[in-house]
Amino acid sequence: MSKEIIKIGDFTRFNSSSMSINWVITRTCNYTCSYCTVYDNTAPFTPFHQLENAVKQIKSLDKEKYQIIFTGGEPTIYPKFNDLLELILLSIGQNIRINVVTNLSRANSFYKKFVDKFQNFNKNIYFVTSFHFEFANKNSFIQKIKFLINSNYNVTVNLMASPPHMSLVKELMSELKNINSKFLNINPIAIRSGNSLDSRYKKEDLAWLKENFIQEKKPIEVTFSTKENKPIIKNYTASEMNTLRMTNFQDMLCEAGINNFSIDVDGKVNKAVCFRRRDSDFNIYKDDNLKKHLPKTPITCPFSRCNCNDDIHIPKYKNTNSKHSLINIKNLL
Ligand code: SF4
Ligand code: SF4
Repeated sequence: MSKEIIKIGDFTRFNSSSMSINWVITRTCNYTCSYCTVYDNTAPFTPFHQLENAVKQIKSLDKEKYQIIFTGGEPTIYPKFNDLLELILLSIGQNIRINVVTNLSRANSFYKKFVDKFQNFNKNIYFVTSFHFEFANKNSFIQKIKFLINSNYNVTVNLMASPPHMSLVKELMSELKNINSKFLNINPIAIRSGNSLDSRYKKEDLAWLKENFIQEKKPIEVTFSTKENKPIIKNYTASEMNTLRMTNFQDMLCEAGINNFSIDVDGKVNKAVCFRRRDSDFNIYKDDNLKKHLPKTPITCPFSRCNCNDDIHIPKYKNTNSKHSLINIKNLL
Protein backbone atom coordinates (compact mmCIF):
# COMPACT_ATOMS: atom_id res chain seq x y z
CA MET A 1 0.00 0.00 0.00
CA SER A 2 1.57 3.30 -1.00
CA LYS A 3 1.11 5.97 1.59
CA GLU A 4 2.11 9.57 1.91
CA ILE A 5 2.38 11.74 5.01
CA ILE A 6 -0.14 14.56 4.78
CA LYS A 7 0.09 15.86 8.32
CA ILE A 8 2.54 15.40 11.18
CA GLY A 9 3.41 16.97 14.53
CA ASP A 10 2.78 17.01 18.25
CA PHE A 11 -1.02 17.06 18.34
CA THR A 12 -1.05 19.32 21.41
CA ARG A 13 0.59 22.03 19.34
CA PHE A 14 -1.96 22.22 16.54
CA ASN A 15 -4.04 25.38 16.94
CA SER A 16 -2.47 26.14 20.33
CA SER A 17 -1.50 29.52 21.70
CA SER A 18 1.76 28.28 23.17
CA MET A 19 5.38 29.03 22.42
CA SER A 20 8.22 26.54 22.74
CA ILE A 21 11.75 27.93 22.78
CA ASN A 22 14.92 25.88 22.42
CA TRP A 23 17.65 28.05 23.98
CA VAL A 24 21.40 27.32 23.91
CA ILE A 25 22.46 29.38 26.88
CA THR A 26 26.15 28.42 26.69
CA ARG A 27 28.23 25.87 24.81
CA THR A 28 30.66 25.58 27.74
CA CYS A 29 30.67 22.14 29.35
CA ASN A 30 32.61 20.58 32.21
CA TYR A 31 32.69 17.27 30.29
CA THR A 32 34.39 16.76 26.95
CA CYS A 33 32.57 13.69 25.64
CA SER A 34 34.34 12.20 22.62
CA TYR A 35 31.06 11.96 20.65
CA CYS A 36 29.92 15.54 21.37
CA THR A 37 29.63 18.01 18.50
CA VAL A 38 28.39 21.02 20.45
CA TYR A 39 30.60 21.90 23.41
CA ASP A 40 32.93 24.87 23.03
CA ASN A 41 34.92 25.95 26.06
CA THR A 42 36.49 28.99 24.38
CA ALA A 43 33.50 31.31 23.98
CA PRO A 44 32.75 33.94 26.69
CA PHE A 45 29.46 33.89 28.61
CA THR A 46 26.71 36.24 27.38
CA PRO A 47 26.39 39.36 29.61
CA PHE A 48 23.31 39.10 31.81
CA HIS A 49 21.71 42.34 30.56
CA GLN A 50 21.48 40.75 27.10
CA LEU A 51 19.57 37.81 28.56
CA GLU A 52 17.26 40.31 30.26
CA ASN A 53 16.48 41.72 26.82
CA ALA A 54 15.70 38.19 25.60
CA VAL A 55 13.26 37.58 28.47
CA LYS A 56 11.56 40.91 27.75
CA GLN A 57 11.13 39.91 24.09
CA ILE A 58 9.74 36.49 25.01
CA LYS A 59 7.23 38.01 27.42
CA SER A 60 6.13 40.50 24.74
CA LEU A 61 4.79 37.60 22.65
CA ASP A 62 1.96 37.40 25.17
CA LYS A 63 1.29 33.66 24.78
CA GLU A 64 -1.02 31.63 27.00
CA LYS A 65 1.70 29.07 27.69
CA TYR A 66 5.45 28.89 27.27
CA GLN A 67 7.98 26.10 27.29
CA ILE A 68 11.67 26.92 27.42
CA ILE A 69 14.20 24.14 26.89
CA PHE A 70 17.66 25.12 28.14
CA THR A 71 20.44 23.20 26.46
CA GLY A 72 24.17 23.63 26.05
CA GLY A 73 26.95 22.65 26.62
CA GLU A 74 25.91 22.32 30.22
CA PRO A 75 23.34 25.09 30.80
CA THR A 76 23.83 25.23 34.58
CA ILE A 77 27.46 26.28 34.02
CA TYR A 78 26.21 29.72 32.95
CA PRO A 79 27.29 31.77 36.01
CA LYS A 80 23.93 33.46 36.56
CA PHE A 81 21.75 30.53 35.53
CA ASN A 82 19.63 30.67 38.69
CA ASP A 83 19.15 34.43 38.32
CA LEU A 84 17.98 33.89 34.74
CA LEU A 85 15.44 31.26 35.82
CA GLU A 86 14.19 33.53 38.57
CA LEU A 87 13.79 36.42 36.13
CA ILE A 88 11.81 34.22 33.72
CA LEU A 89 9.56 32.78 36.42
CA LEU A 90 8.83 36.16 37.94
CA SER A 91 8.23 37.84 34.55
CA ILE A 92 6.15 35.17 32.88
CA GLY A 93 4.45 33.59 35.91
CA GLN A 94 2.97 30.13 36.35
CA ASN A 95 2.17 29.44 32.68
CA ILE A 96 5.64 28.27 31.91
CA ARG A 97 7.48 24.99 31.89
CA ILE A 98 11.28 25.11 31.94
CA ASN A 99 13.20 22.00 30.90
CA VAL A 100 16.85 21.98 31.99
CA VAL A 101 18.77 19.51 29.82
CA THR A 102 21.72 18.71 32.06
CA ASN A 103 24.46 16.17 32.77
CA LEU A 104 23.81 16.64 36.56
CA SER A 105 27.50 17.18 37.16
CA ARG A 106 27.42 20.22 39.42
CA ALA A 107 28.50 19.98 43.05
CA ASN A 108 25.85 18.97 45.61
CA SER A 109 25.84 22.54 46.97
CA PHE A 110 24.55 23.78 43.59
CA TYR A 111 21.42 21.61 43.79
CA LYS A 112 20.86 22.47 47.45
CA LYS A 113 20.92 26.19 46.62
CA PHE A 114 18.73 25.60 43.56
CA VAL A 115 16.04 23.77 45.52
CA ASP A 116 16.07 26.40 48.29
CA LYS A 117 15.71 29.21 45.77
CA PHE A 118 12.95 27.65 43.67
CA GLN A 119 10.90 25.82 46.29
CA ASN A 120 7.67 27.39 44.96
CA PHE A 121 8.41 26.49 41.34
CA ASN A 122 8.93 22.73 41.35
CA LYS A 123 5.89 22.36 39.08
CA ASN A 124 7.49 24.68 36.54
CA ILE A 125 11.03 23.31 36.37
CA TYR A 126 11.84 19.86 34.96
CA PHE A 127 15.24 18.20 34.71
CA VAL A 128 16.13 16.07 31.69
CA THR A 129 19.39 14.21 32.11
CA SER A 130 21.55 11.50 30.59
CA PHE A 131 24.48 9.55 32.00
CA HIS A 132 27.71 10.31 30.12
CA PHE A 133 29.81 7.17 30.54
CA GLU A 134 33.23 8.70 29.92
CA PHE A 135 32.94 11.19 32.80
CA ALA A 136 29.96 10.64 35.08
CA ASN A 137 30.07 8.85 38.42
CA LYS A 138 27.18 6.47 39.04
CA ASN A 139 26.77 7.04 42.78
CA SER A 140 26.91 10.79 42.54
CA PHE A 141 24.48 10.78 39.57
CA ILE A 142 21.94 8.67 41.47
CA GLN A 143 22.36 10.68 44.64
CA LYS A 144 21.55 13.94 42.82
CA ILE A 145 18.51 12.41 41.14
CA LYS A 146 17.25 11.25 44.55
CA PHE A 147 17.81 14.67 46.03
CA LEU A 148 15.83 16.39 43.25
CA ILE A 149 12.90 14.01 43.27
CA ASN A 150 12.77 14.08 47.08
CA SER A 151 12.42 17.82 46.65
CA ASN A 152 9.44 17.14 44.33
CA TYR A 153 11.15 17.99 41.04
CA ASN A 154 10.40 15.92 37.97
CA VAL A 155 13.47 14.23 36.53
CA THR A 156 13.59 12.36 33.21
CA VAL A 157 16.61 10.12 32.67
CA ASN A 158 17.36 9.30 29.06
CA LEU A 159 19.47 6.23 29.66
CA MET A 160 21.51 5.44 26.59
CA ALA A 161 22.06 1.66 26.50
CA SER A 162 25.62 1.97 25.24
CA PRO A 163 26.76 -1.52 24.10
CA PRO A 164 30.29 -1.29 25.59
CA HIS A 165 28.87 -0.20 28.97
CA MET A 166 25.98 -2.62 29.37
CA SER A 167 26.90 -3.87 32.85
CA LEU A 168 26.87 -0.28 34.14
CA VAL A 169 23.65 0.45 32.19
CA LYS A 170 21.99 -2.51 33.93
CA GLU A 171 23.22 -1.40 37.38
CA LEU A 172 21.97 2.14 36.75
CA MET A 173 18.60 0.93 35.55
CA SER A 174 18.13 -1.34 38.54
CA GLU A 175 19.04 1.43 41.01
CA LEU A 176 16.81 3.95 39.24
CA LYS A 177 13.88 1.54 39.22
CA ASN A 178 14.34 0.96 42.96
CA ILE A 179 13.78 4.66 43.56
CA ASN A 180 10.16 4.08 42.54
CA SER A 181 8.94 7.67 42.49
CA LYS A 182 6.21 9.38 40.48
CA PHE A 183 8.69 12.21 39.92
CA LEU A 184 11.11 9.98 38.03
CA ASN A 185 10.77 8.95 34.36
CA ILE A 186 13.29 6.53 32.92
CA ASN A 187 13.71 6.22 29.17
CA PRO A 188 16.21 3.52 28.22
CA ILE A 189 17.28 4.22 24.67
CA ALA A 190 18.61 1.36 22.56
CA ILE A 191 21.39 2.16 20.09
CA ARG A 192 20.42 1.43 16.53
CA SER A 193 22.25 1.19 13.30
CA GLY A 194 19.83 1.90 10.47
CA ASN A 195 16.67 -0.04 11.19
CA SER A 196 18.38 -2.70 13.34
CA LEU A 197 19.73 -2.72 16.85
CA ASP A 198 23.48 -2.20 17.23
CA SER A 199 25.26 -5.48 16.37
CA ARG A 200 27.51 -5.17 19.46
CA TYR A 201 24.64 -6.12 21.78
CA LYS A 202 25.12 -9.63 23.20
CA LYS A 203 22.27 -12.11 23.44
CA GLU A 204 21.74 -11.34 27.15
CA ASP A 205 21.72 -7.58 26.42
CA LEU A 206 18.96 -8.02 23.84
CA ALA A 207 16.91 -9.99 26.37
CA TRP A 208 17.49 -7.24 28.94
CA LEU A 209 16.50 -4.52 26.48
CA LYS A 210 13.31 -6.36 25.67
CA GLU A 211 12.44 -6.66 29.34
CA ASN A 212 13.39 -3.12 30.32
CA PHE A 213 12.43 -1.05 27.33
CA ILE A 214 9.88 1.39 28.58
CA GLN A 215 7.83 3.06 25.90
CA GLU A 216 8.06 6.82 25.81
CA LYS A 217 4.79 8.65 25.37
CA LYS A 218 4.14 8.95 21.65
CA PRO A 219 3.00 12.51 21.12
CA ILE A 220 3.69 12.80 17.40
CA GLU A 221 0.63 12.14 15.35
CA VAL A 222 1.19 11.27 11.71
CA THR A 223 -1.69 11.28 9.25
CA PHE A 224 -1.06 9.26 6.10
CA SER A 225 -3.15 9.33 2.99
CA THR A 226 -3.26 6.10 1.03
CA LYS A 227 -3.89 5.26 -2.57
CA GLU A 228 -7.30 4.03 -1.51
CA ASN A 229 -7.84 7.53 -0.12
CA LYS A 230 -8.45 6.23 3.37
CA PRO A 231 -6.50 8.33 5.90
CA ILE A 232 -4.58 6.54 8.64
CA ILE A 233 -3.35 8.11 11.87
CA LYS A 234 -0.44 6.61 13.83
CA ASN A 235 1.54 7.87 16.79
CA TYR A 236 5.33 7.87 17.07
CA THR A 237 8.10 9.26 19.23
CA ALA A 238 10.64 11.57 17.60
CA SER A 239 13.37 8.91 18.04
CA GLU A 240 11.23 6.34 16.23
CA MET A 241 10.65 8.71 13.34
CA ASN A 242 14.40 9.26 13.11
CA THR A 243 15.12 5.54 13.23
CA LEU A 244 12.49 4.77 10.61
CA ARG A 245 13.89 7.56 8.41
CA MET A 246 10.47 9.22 8.30
CA THR A 247 11.95 12.70 8.55
CA ASN A 248 11.85 14.14 5.05
CA PHE A 249 9.17 16.85 5.03
CA GLN A 250 10.60 18.90 2.18
CA ASP A 251 7.98 21.12 0.48
CA MET A 252 5.40 20.51 3.23
CA LEU A 253 4.05 23.57 5.07
CA CYS A 254 5.78 23.83 8.45
CA GLU A 255 4.79 25.96 11.43
CA ALA A 256 8.43 26.59 12.42
CA GLY A 257 8.55 30.01 14.07
CA ILE A 258 4.82 30.20 14.73
CA ASN A 259 4.66 28.31 18.01
CA ASN A 260 8.33 27.65 18.53
CA PHE A 261 11.74 29.11 17.81
CA SER A 262 15.37 28.57 18.63
CA ILE A 263 17.93 30.86 20.27
CA ASP A 264 21.57 30.11 19.52
CA VAL A 265 24.38 30.86 21.94
CA ASP A 266 25.06 34.23 20.26
CA GLY A 267 21.39 35.29 20.56
CA LYS A 268 20.46 34.66 16.94
CA VAL A 269 16.82 33.65 16.59
CA ASN A 270 15.86 31.01 14.09
CA LYS A 271 12.47 29.59 13.29
CA ALA A 272 13.63 26.14 14.40
CA VAL A 273 16.81 24.24 15.26
CA CYS A 274 17.18 23.24 11.56
CA PHE A 275 17.92 26.89 10.68
CA ARG A 276 20.51 27.29 13.46
CA ARG A 277 23.96 28.44 12.32
CA ARG A 278 22.38 29.89 9.19
CA ASP A 279 21.77 33.58 8.66
CA SER A 280 19.32 35.20 11.00
CA ASP A 281 18.25 38.82 10.89
CA PHE A 282 17.13 38.97 14.52
CA ASN A 283 19.29 38.87 17.64
CA ILE A 284 17.20 38.48 20.78
CA TYR A 285 20.10 39.67 22.95
CA LYS A 286 20.15 43.07 21.22
CA ASP A 287 17.10 43.68 19.05
CA ASP A 288 13.51 44.67 19.81
CA ASN A 289 10.18 43.52 18.41
CA LEU A 290 10.56 39.76 18.26
CA LYS A 291 6.82 39.54 17.56
CA LYS A 292 7.26 41.31 14.23
CA HIS A 293 10.17 39.08 13.27
CA LEU A 294 8.48 35.70 13.79
CA PRO A 295 6.43 34.32 10.88
CA LYS A 296 2.63 34.40 11.04
CA THR A 297 2.05 31.81 8.35
CA PRO A 298 3.68 28.44 7.70
CA ILE A 299 6.87 28.23 5.65
CA THR A 300 7.65 25.67 2.96
CA CYS A 301 10.26 23.25 4.33
CA PRO A 302 13.46 23.67 2.29
CA PHE A 303 15.36 20.73 3.85
CA SER A 304 15.48 17.06 2.93
CA ARG A 305 15.82 15.95 6.56
CA CYS A 306 14.28 17.19 9.80
CA ASN A 307 17.16 16.27 12.11
CA CYS A 308 16.35 17.52 15.56
CA ASN A 309 13.82 15.75 17.81
CA ASP A 310 12.43 19.13 18.87
CA ASP A 311 11.81 20.09 15.23
CA ILE A 312 10.01 16.83 14.49
CA HIS A 313 7.31 17.87 17.00
CA ILE A 314 6.48 21.05 15.05
CA PRO A 315 3.17 20.83 13.11
CA LYS A 316 3.58 20.29 9.36
CA TYR A 317 1.05 19.51 6.65
CA LYS A 318 0.84 19.06 2.94
CA ASN A 319 -1.58 21.92 2.47
CA THR A 320 -3.96 23.94 4.61
CA ASN A 321 -6.79 21.54 3.79
CA SER A 322 -4.86 18.66 5.31
CA LYS A 323 -4.29 20.72 8.47
CA HIS A 324 -7.96 21.47 8.98
CA SER A 325 -9.18 18.08 7.87
CA LEU A 326 -7.77 16.35 10.94
CA ILE A 327 -10.88 16.51 13.10
CA ASN A 328 -13.00 15.00 10.33
CA ILE A 329 -10.41 12.37 9.63
CA LYS A 330 -10.33 11.39 13.31
CA ASN A 331 -14.09 11.00 13.37
CA LEU A 332 -13.92 8.72 10.37
CA LEU A 333 -11.64 6.22 12.10
S1 SF4 B 1 27.85 16.43 28.63
FE1 SF4 B 1 26.66 16.85 26.78
S2 SF4 B 1 27.30 18.90 26.11
FE2 SF4 B 1 28.81 18.17 27.60
S3 SF4 B 1 30.42 17.29 26.36
FE3 SF4 B 1 29.04 15.61 26.94
S4 SF4 B 1 27.54 15.46 25.25
FE4 SF4 B 1 28.61 17.45 25.06
S1 SF4 C 1 13.55 20.72 8.76
FE1 SF4 C 1 12.85 22.63 9.70
S2 SF4 C 1 11.53 23.59 8.14
FE2 SF4 C 1 11.76 21.43 7.62
S3 SF4 C 1 10.05 20.38 8.57
FE3 SF4 C 1 11.75 20.28 10.03
S4 SF4 C 1 11.44 22.05 11.33
FE4 SF4 C 1 10.20 22.40 9.52
